[in-house]
Amino acid sequence: MSIRLRGTPASPGVSIGPAFLLNVEEIRVQKRTLRTASEVKCELERFAEAIEKTRGQLEQISEHLSDVIEGKQLIEVHILLLSDPFIITEVRKQIKDDLVCAEYAVSKVLYDVLERFNAIEDPYLRSRSVDVRDVGRRVMANLLGTEKQALSSLKSPVILVSEDLDPSQTAGLSRKQLLGIATDLGGSTSHTAILARSMGIPAVVALKNVAENAVPGQVVIIDGIHGEVILDPDEDELQYYSELKKRYNTAEAEIALNADSPAVTADGKAVELSANIEFSQEADQVGRFGGHGIGLFRTEFIRLISPEAEEEEMHFRAYRHVLQTLNPDPVIIRTLDLGGDKFLDFIPTVERNPFLGWRGIRICLDRPEKFISQLRALLRAARFGNARIMLPMITGYDQIVQVRDMLDDISANLDREGIPRGDIPPLGIMIETPAAVLGIDLLLPHSAFVSIGSNDLTQYTLAVDRGSPYVSNLFDSFHPAVIRQINIVVSKCREAGKWVGICGQMASDPLAIPLLLGYGVNELSVPMTLIPDVKEMISVISMKDAGSLAEKALILKSSGEIRRSVLDYVESKYPEIILDEIHRDEIYRGS
Ligand code: PEP
Ligand code: MG
Repeated sequence: MSIRLRGTPASPGVSIGPAFLLNVEEIRVQKRTLRTASEVKCELERFAEAIEKTRGQLEQISEHLSDVIEGKQLIEVHILLLSDPFIITEVRKQIKDDLVCAEYAVSKVLYDVLERFNAIEDPYLRSRSVDVRDVGRRVMANLLGTEKQALSSLKSPVILVSEDLDPSQTAGLSRKQLLGIATDLGGSTSHTAILARSMGIPAVVALKNVAENAVPGQVVIIDGIHGEVILDPDEDELQYYSELKKRYNTAEAEIALNADSPAVTADGKAVELSANIEFSQEADQVGRFGGHGIGLFRTEFIRLISPEAEEEEMHFRAYRHVLQTLNPDPVIIRTLDLGGDKFLDFIPTVERNPFLGWRGIRICLDRPEKFISQLRALLRAARFGNARIMLPMITGYDQIVQVRDMLDDISANLDREGIPRGDIPPLGIMIETPAAVLGIDLLLPHSAFVSIGSNDLTQYTLAVDRGSPYVSNLFDSFHPAVIRQINIVVSKCREAGKWVGICGQMASDPLAIPLLLGYGVNELSVPMTLIPDVKEMISVISMKDAGSLAEKALILKSSGEIRRSVLDYVESKYPEIILDEIHRDEIYRGS
């Protein structure tokens, strides 16, 4: 019988295909029986090597954690666990006596140990099973090679099913191999969801138990419009969703025909509509989708998919390509925003609250050597087009001043080294924290422009982790506290004569667009694949109506009331399939 699960729609579209279980398969490894003494010897060696490799990786992380005491202690516990004589002896015994391969032996011992932990009464000790699981995962990964390798050798495309997906895993995947993504964790603005949208792959996140229920190879339907996933569908479901997929693709194709038309409201106001991109190659497609420049280039992914060596060169080539391709249109390059849900080896993933921790500009200023490579690359590439630099996670003007000083020093160094560079580009900031909103008058004198990061602004205003499925019902950019802050930012920018855009997910939300235009943003920057939809939406709105809706939203009492008020206006104007139905559910919750 089919299983129907409901989650959060993360990337629109419908896909049907076989399940590939990522990060879950380690628990379900194939049992390979050993036949000869040399096979046993080889498996014992593989096990010993995997332990050593894991130890090396953990020690490397620990070295970088000198300033994060708690994180360092945790990693040291993990290193100790690696030498646990019980685990080591048990795994070796299974290989020698039961004649099973190393990965099977590890998974079996791990399973037994975790069972024992689950039976412990003391809640603190029981919770330490997380550490055993974590170390076990690392050893398994070193034994099996990465699942990315398994994915890249697939003959036909799959639907990726996983408990969670690290953006660095998603970033390395080829879109040819992916039909869709379904995960237990994550929210619609988590970076895995953002990547799925940029790749145009239907995705549903926050499903809570899809990984547990899915079976490798079974047929899965992803309905990224309404946020549903169906495992092992019956004939009727298959027919219904094949039909829905056709209807959605037809509506999208019709809208895409208008890609060349300008983004203009029904009463003739031109709106700057630009693209959010994550990979430099996406720049080649921006024109095809009808975008005007780049409003947000998330540069973290360049580093997530490439080795640390040659960092400056990798960044330089990526920026040069995007700038040359889009010249003379503006390209807003956001400096590294690692941390939160995007990790590299040198960032402690063991922080209690990574979104409140070492993230974005904080890491850049604390670890200037990495940041300097990026800024050098930026200045070198700036002569190839219309570049702007944007800083994430700003909370105080001193952060902007520090970066400006660094840019001055770096440009002087490049000149001394005889390396060609462009002029220092305009330096702008993202408004992503209530601190930046309330202190905007202190930031604007130091900023050439601003762009509202509504994903983080919502997260930090409502104290709701954007990646947690347990509070995803509270993550709501239509909350009066968020809407009012957007109004404050836009009016302060207009007063100061500063350009203001918005590049969070809200900018492509059919119900948010009238409000954002009504407050007076200069630009909407949206995932490239959604540009045609957003252009269509802009074309049916009049600025006069948008102004009244925006004003009214400032006195409404809840997100439900705000949504309802906009829905009444737009319902007759957009194609129903594009105005995704999730809004209807949200309208009736919390009013
Ligand atoms: C945002 O926070 O709204 C934003 C655009 O940045 P990111 O989603 O990369 O955090
Ligand atoms: Mg952000």
